[in-house]
Parts: sequence; structure tokens; C-alpha cells
Amino acid sequence: MNKIGILTSGGDAPGMNAAIRAVTRKCIYHGLEVYGINNGYQGLIEGNIKKMELGSVGDIIHRGGTILFSARCEEFKTDAGQQKGIEQLEKFGIDALVVIGGDGSFHGAQKLTEKGFPCIGVPATIDNDIAGTNFTIGFDTALNTIIEAIDKIRDTATSHERTYVIEVMGRDAGDLALWSGLADGAESILIPEKQADFDDVIERLEKGMKRGKKHSIIVLAEGVGSGIEYGDKIKEAINLETRVTVLGHIQRGGSPTAADRVLASRLGAKAVDLLLEGKEGRMVGLYNNELIDFSIEEILAEKHVVNMDMYKLSQELSI
Ligand code: ADP
Repeated sequence: MNKIGILTSGGDAPGMNAAIRAVTRKCIYHGLEVYGINNGYQGLIEGNIKKMELGSVGDIIHRGGTILFSARCEEFKTDAGQQKGIEQLEKFGIDALVVIGGDGSFHGAQKLTEKGFPCIGVPATIDNDIAGTNFTIGFDTALNTIIEAIDKIRDTATSHERTYVIEVMGRDAGDLALWSGLADGAESILIPEKQADFDDVIERLEKGMKRGKKHSIIVLAEGVGSGIEYGDKIKEAINLETRVTVLGHIQRGGSPTAADRVLASRLGAKAVDLLLEGKEGRMVGLYNNELIDFSIEEILAEKHVVNMDMYKLSQELSI
């Protein structure tokens, strides 16, 4: 094992740069060469590959996004696309690849491993929707961005005695909505993993109004549906005007939090350790603050589970 490739793929997440830095520096520390692949699997197919030095990852630990850029690449889902990728890796003499991304990207890494090219996956997505790790890189930063936004909205909600529906990201997962809703004392939290009872949402709103609450906040995960439609539904049911905010891509950017920088540094370094141990087709993760690794194949077959105790708690605290 002499040369390691590294790429970021799928949706960007704050902390990806800290992970790139960790992989690069850890490799160099152990005397390995590192090659950065631009634009994810698209760049891999095209041979958009450059050697990384210690300085290539200087001054990036605090920056959001990814210096290696990211892309979505349909061609890589095909055998021919994957074969082209392997040809490029062989051309550059690269022995193994670290893939930083979400579950889509891990499917690609699994395919490469099955074709005989060793890969390790580092989970990075704001959605926190990957099994086998308590947290993915980027989740904590996105969560803090959401909380900051809701705090601001809350000021207006209180001043104008309004009800706000706030749509947050998460794709099919409810973690961002659940954690931000709990952290911000939302009246109701709507997540795809739990069929919300509309009557219960309405009851909570009405109860709050009766006891003179100045505002109500409903956090809705995008996986549940459209915030605008949900606002209309409330208006229809009890003639209550709501304001809807779709936070959108603001949630993906920004300087990573300390938690994400530390997580990315630990996971990135662990990925290199696994390669040095001769492991392949594994994903690194954090479980109860311990670094662990699982087979990517197993991880892809499992579903990330939301913490339903936290959901219950949020309901108990928002009476
Ligand atoms: P994420 O990694 O954030 O979940 P995507 O689902 O968009 O993002 O996946 C990123 C890229 O990973 C895709 O554009 C594609 O190149 C690759 N990919 C996704 N699914 C597969 C698959 N089944 N086989 C091979 N490559 C895949």
C-alpha cells in the first residue's frame, strides 16, 4: 500500500474538508502518497486527479464545502463507468480509495471493492441518515445553523404572535427535524419515521393559544412533505394563519462546528488506519464515542434509526 486516493461525493457537508485534511496528513505521516480526485466519481472517470502535499490541506479545517468539489455522476452507476474509474486509479498507481460522502457514494465504493479495488467509506452528510454511526460529518453544523435560524424566527413569531412552520432538510430522515425541534422547544415535530397525528398538532396549537402563548413553532422534515402545504392544511382546519419558512441550502454550508471538525479528523484518520491494517469495503463510524468500522455492504442494507425516546421527550416537554 503506497498510494491512497481520496474523493468527496454526493451532497456536500461541513467538515468534509477536515476529513480530507485528516486523511491526507495521516497518510503522509505514515509515509504514503495521497492523490486528491476532483468532482467525486465524475472526476475519477475523467482522471481529474492530483497529488496532495501537506500544504494542499493547509487552512481548510474551518472551511465548509469541499476543496475537492463534489458531483453526482450517473455513469458511475454502470459497470462500464466503474471500470473506467478503476482504469484511472491504476493509471495513477493508486492502491486504495477513501470515499467521503453519503449512502449513494457508499454504493459506488462497494461496487469498486467488489470489482477488486479496495475502498473505505467516511460518512459525511448533514442528514445523519447512515446506519452504523451515531453521527455523520456535517450533521452537528447543520443542526446549529437550523437552531440559529429558528431562534431568529422565534423573535418575529413572538413579536407578531404567529405560528411558524419551518421546513428543514434531511431527505428521508427525521434527525435534523427531531434534534432541532427538541433544541428549540418546538410545539410539534413532524418526521417521516413517525406518522404524526394531525389532530394532535392542532390540539397543541390550540392549547398553547388558550394559555396565552405568543407563538408556536412547528418543525417539519422535508421527508414528510411540503411546509407550505402543511401551513395551508392548518389554515383550512382551524382558520389559523401560519408563516412558512423553508430553510433550504443555508443548512448545508458554513464553517463546521468543533464537534464536526473533531469527528471528521477522527474518522478520516481511522480510515487510513483501516487501510494500513489491510481492511477494505468498510465504513468508519462513531458509536458511543468509540471509533468502529462495519462492512459497507451491511451498512447499506440497514436503515438509520431515529431515537424515538427523544421524540417522546419532545412531546412531553412541549405540552
Ligand atoms: P450521497 O452520497 O450524498 O448519498 P448520491 O446518492 O447522489 O449522494 O450519490 C452520489 C454518487 O454516488 C452518485 O452520483 C453516483 O455517482 C454514485 N452512486 C450512487 N449510487 C450508486 C450505485 N448504486 N452504484 C454506483 N455508484 C453509485
